[in-house]
Amino acid sequence: MATIISGKEVSAKVKEEVRAECDRLRQQGVTPGLAVIIVGDDPASRVYVNNKKKACAEVGFVSEEYALPAETPQEELLALVNTLNRRQDIHGILCQLPLPKHLDETAVIHAIDPKKDVDAFHPSNVGKIMIGDYDFLPCTPAGVMELIHAAGIEVSGKSCVVIGRSNIVGKPMAMLLLHENGTVTICHSKTRNLKEICLGADILVAAVGRPKFVKGDMVKEGAVVLDVGINRDENGKLCGDVDYAEVEPKASYITPVPGGVGPMTIAMLMKNTLSAAKMAAGLL
Ligand code: NDP
Repeated sequence: MATIISGKEVSAKVKEEVRAECDRLRQQGVTPGLAVIIVGDDPASRVYVNNKKKACAEVGFVSEEYALPAETPQEELLALVNTLNRRQDIHGILCQLPLPKHLDETAVIHAIDPKKDVDAFHPSNVGKIMIGDYDFLPCTPAGVMELIHAAGIEVSGKSCVVIGRSNIVGKPMAMLLLHENGTVTICHSKTRNLKEICLGADILVAAVGRPKFVKGDMVKEGAVVLDVGINRDENGKLCGDVDYAEVEPKASYITPVPGGVGPMTIAMLMKNTLSAAKMAAGLL
């Protein structure tokens, strides 16, 4: 029987800390402000944006939504980013991905002022994470680390396996585990012997984007299993990248889906926006 690491509980604690800090900041005349840009009408993106706005209200931030039509030209989107870059009352800017196909995501990410890049996707922030001297951490991997810390799990010296190498999750996840002295293996679609590699993991992070991909026979007895995936199963029910029913009896700790990594991502976004506001005010 695994101990369940509750992202619901840990994220509530993180948001509470952010709210208390936000109160103190407001007494000094600074209210953190987050601008969220959404282009088009992707239903999943809409849910994420609504959740981010709701979290801003919970912690006492100002949030502004810019909902642009799907056919918005690139220049118009970049002009909006530039305007927000110049606004002193906006400390964080995020553009909900994916963007419609005619838009250049890389150009948009590059256009965001790195000091307002609360998703930590700008190359300057990515580089800073690499050398371990960063202003912001990408929200999802940072959320996973927060869960590991909350559960009191030591990373140092452990064999860590990350399945997935996306710029948003897999790669920075591996880097954060490495910063904490884990011995890290990154797996991807061309990895041979995936099952054997996973069986060697003390800490296994699944960021694959495939429902119930990690099976019980891929997990070592007593492993810590963190499930980043958000998928729908064959019945349309929300599920992770880990086959929870098979893996839970073998793991020592496991994160559920929903209620695991998902809520952490938003809590860490709040933390980053707070840091951005403090940096802008010269308080960090
Ligand atoms: P991507 O699709 O960008 O990356 C998936 C990775 O999985 C790739 O590196 C890919 O390898 C690898 N992969 C795919 N198939 C296999 C396979 N058969 N064996 C081994 N590796 C494989 O996804 P993301 O990183 O953006 O997201 C991963 C999951 O996390 C998704 O379910 C997403 O919805 C979820 N997510 C959840 C968040 C949260 O807040 N909880 C936030 C962000 C994402 P290759 O590079 O070779 O193609």
